[in-house]
Amino acid sequence: MAILTVLSLALRLMACAWSGVLWRRLRDWRFAFLFGLLAVMFAYAAGTAVGAVRAWPSPTGSVFAGVADLGVSVLALLAVIFIEVAIERERRTARQLETERAYFAHLFENAPEAIVVVDNDSRVTRTNVEFEHMFGYTGDEVRGRPLDELIAPPHLIEEAHGVTRRVADGDRVAFETVRRRRDGTLFDVSVLGMPIRVEGGQVAVYGIYRDVTDRRRAERARRQSEERYHTILDTIEDGYYEVDTSGNLVAFNDALQRLLGYGAEELRGMNNRRYMAEAEARRVYGTFNDVYRSGAPARIFDWEVIRSDGTRRIVEASVTPVRDGQGAVVGFRGIVRDVSDRKRTEQALRASEERYALAARGANDGLWDWDLVNAAVYFSARWKAMLGYRDHEIGDQPEEWFHRVHPDDVGRLRKDLDTHLDGAVPHFQTECRMLHKDGVYRWMVVRGVAERAADGTPTRIAGSQTDISEQKDAEERLIHDAFHDALTGLPNRALFTNLLDRSIGRLRRHSDYRFAVLFLDIDRFKVVNDSLGHMIGDQLLVAAARRLAACLRPGDTVARLGGDEFTILLDDIVGVEDAIGVAERIQSDLATAFTVEQRDVFTSASIGIALSDRAYQRPEEILRDADTAMYRAKARGRACHEVFTSRMHTHAVSLLNLETDLRRALEREEFRLYYQPIISLLTGELTGFEALLRWAHPTRGIVAPVEFIRLAEETGLIIPIGQWVLWEACRQAEAWRRARGPDAAPLTMSINLSARQFAEATLVESVADALAVTGLPPTALRLEITESILMDHAEANVRVLDQLRRSGVHVQVDDFGTGYSSLSYLHRFSLDALKIDRSFVAGLGRSGENTEIVRTIVTLARNLGMLVVAEGVETGAQRDVLIALGCEQAQGFLFSGPVDAVEADAFFARVEPV
Ligand code: C2E
Ligand code: CA
Ligand code: CA
Repeated sequence: MAILTVLSLALRLMACAWSGVLWRRLRDWRFAFLFGLLAVMFAYAAGTAVGAVRAWPSPTGSVFAGVADLGVSVLALLAVIFIEVAIERERRTARQLETERAYFAHLFENAPEAIVVVDNDSRVTRTNVEFEHMFGYTGDEVRGRPLDELIAPPHLIEEAHGVTRRVADGDRVAFETVRRRRDGTLFDVSVLGMPIRVEGGQVAVYGIYRDVTDRRRAERARRQSEERYHTILDTIEDGYYEVDTSGNLVAFNDALQRLLGYGAEELRGMNNRRYMAEAEARRVYGTFNDVYRSGAPARIFDWEVIRSDGTRRIVEASVTPVRDGQGAVVGFRGIVRDVSDRKRTEQALRASEERYALAARGANDGLWDWDLVNAAVYFSARWKAMLGYRDHEIGDQPEEWFHRVHPDDVGRLRKDLDTHLDGAVPHFQTECRMLHKDGVYRWMVVRGVAERAADGTPTRIAGSQTDISEQKDAEERLIHDAFHDALTGLPNRALFTNLLDRSIGRLRRHSDYRFAVLFLDIDRFKVVNDSLGHMIGDQLLVAAARRLAACLRPGDTVARLGGDEFTILLDDIVGVEDAIGVAERIQSDLATAFTVEQRDVFTSASIGIALSDRAYQRPEEILRDADTAMYRAKARGRACHEVFTSRMHTHAVSLLNLETDLRRALEREEFRLYYQPIISLLTGELTGFEALLRWAHPTRGIVAPVEFIRLAEETGLIIPIGQWVLWEACRQAEAWRRARGPDAAPLTMSINLSARQFAEATLVESVADALAVTGLPPTALRLEITESILMDHAEANVRVLDQLRRSGVHVQVDDFGTGYSSLSYLHRFSLDALKIDRSFVAGLGRSGENTEIVRTIVTLARNLGMLVVAEGVETGAQRDVLIALGCEQAQGFLFSGPVDAVEADAFFARVEPV
């Protein structure tokens, strides 16, 4: 029993001491508590032990008590051990955590990216070192402040908020943007935003920033340089090519496409054998091979390429090897320039130089030798003969030479001589005119070299003299030919443009200077050319050119632009009246017939006038405006002139819209017919009307046919329009015929047919239909056709004319007398009447002009059994001449202009006998 007690005491003492030691070592309150508890237990156990010894000899109870006591002691010891183990484990975990924390803190602090953590209100809670570097704030400065306002530039704050919100909502966001440093500077960053979550919710958000300014700058620079490279390639006029080692095109620019004439798609990957002849390919490959083998940086060579259309061009090409990263040649690239024209000139030049050298060898030059010390010159016999003198006729004085030099050249001769004698140039050479004995100057080239004393002073100079008059002449002729039209000898477009350019320059310097450009086109020249042949056409042009030149003052220039187009530069004029005066003079001069190959050819011209204006920068602009004005003049009815106004420019533009408008006009029935009375000159009575088309335009009002007929013809719209005219005119004529009753004198209705309509296969049928349906008798209808239809020679036209006439319809020639030369063709056609063009009528009565022409026409018509109608009769005098000449019918403002159907109605009652 005592043993048990002792053992238990010892155990308790041990537990107590242990817990004490542990308390001191681990400084954990749990051991202090245990120690206290064990100390009390120990004291108590000691007391119990004393009691047990005293209560001796009741052993059984005390044995039991002793065993229980020992159990308690063991438990106490176990408690100590248990707590120690638990605490040790706890401490190990804590240590581990600490290590990890330090590890992550290190990572965080030293990460190469800037990292910032913000709380749920987007306020900064932590930043790392790189953040401080990158943004220039210290961690303390930013803590607690809203992140976006700190580092987003003002214009991006909204965007930054959006991103923060998305991240706060749990998204992971990566993007590139711009951020702001503390000092306000901006830079490019890549941003990664991520939420930080723990169980139970989100605690924070962090962002990782990387400065990508350099990368972005490099990217931008690369992109720019690529763009620049492409723009340069596409804007240069030279072709650029890049081929692989097999000769397949891998890159090229627009110019190369143009040069070879292929589209980009076709060209890509095309092998260069496709655009080279076989032999040429071998040669070019040889060059490429040289470059490849020698590693030479570049070579220039000529290269003959074949374009897609089969034509050949000579190009000058460069070739450079293209290398990969390791320096191996993977292809070739270079620039090609079309030098075909230059090559051709070079060849021509070489040929002429060779010819020249030959000639020089064959020619024998004059020699001279001047003794400067004694001031005497030896002139060879040939030298003298070149000037037409015999040997003894010229002495040995320098003046023999100088006084024969052209006064304009002698200064230059002396200067060139002095320059050489002074030693400034190694050879003496000059060109000058020398007076020949026959009084004509000859061009000579004089060459020489001086001999010098030891100190450099010239003592003697000798040389040759060559007659280059012929070469000079040839040069002048060449220059002349380059700037003149071969047919008429007039300046050509190139020279005219030069002169115009000079005038434009002068206008800039002198505010009171004025000039005008006349653009002149011969009316119906094509008809003459086609019907009478090119020979006569050419002669007419030459004759017209001569007349034009005669109309001008010295200083003015007339040029032939090509075809039947002439331009005139009126220099230094006072005002527009001068230009108009010239235009009128030209028109009246051209009105007289030209006699070409014993034929009389009549022409007129349409003239456009453009006046100088400071707005003109280039000759082409003023030419264009004069041309526009000329077209206006043509549209107004030829043989007249127009001064360009800016309205015409607008007009040219509006012509574009006209076509659409015209189509609509047909649908909307905006066309009207006006009727112009035709009067019998014998009785003064009304014989009929000519139907003239008008367009009742919704905004422009009544539009005259000159404004749209030509376009309608060009677009084919004239067919439906003409069809409408035919029906409407027939309908109206029949209506009037019925209204006037069967006893009234029959009236005719004339309608105009354009050549386009005449070519329609259905014309005869259409006319028959219109007559049958409306009920108008065929004899009441007169079709007016233009001379061009007759000039056309087409068999078909003859047939159509016959068919029309056989149906009873009358056919007459409109605008007769303009633009053709021969009346003989009239026999070949069956025609009822001629309408004398109003340009002839205009001259009647005033000055007796044109009387002869009209007389001829009337006589001719009578011989052929045709009626003559005069149009454009405006004065009583004109009417009287026409009556005297025997013309039967007339129309014109004197009687009445074209009027609408209602007014025409009234006309029946109003006309009085002449
Ligand atoms: P055109 O056949 O020579 O018609 C005569 C033109 O001269 C008419 O011009 C008429 O108004 C005008 N005129 C009449 N009397 C005088 C006068 O005393 N003095 C002057 N200076 N002029 C006078 P408009 O109506 O402007 O017609 C111009 C041209 O348009 C016509 O010339 C004709 O070639 C064409 N045209 C008119 N209607 C039609 C049509 O229905 N079909 C076709 N294909 N062409 C038409
Ligand atoms: Ca007519
Ligand atoms: Ca006419």
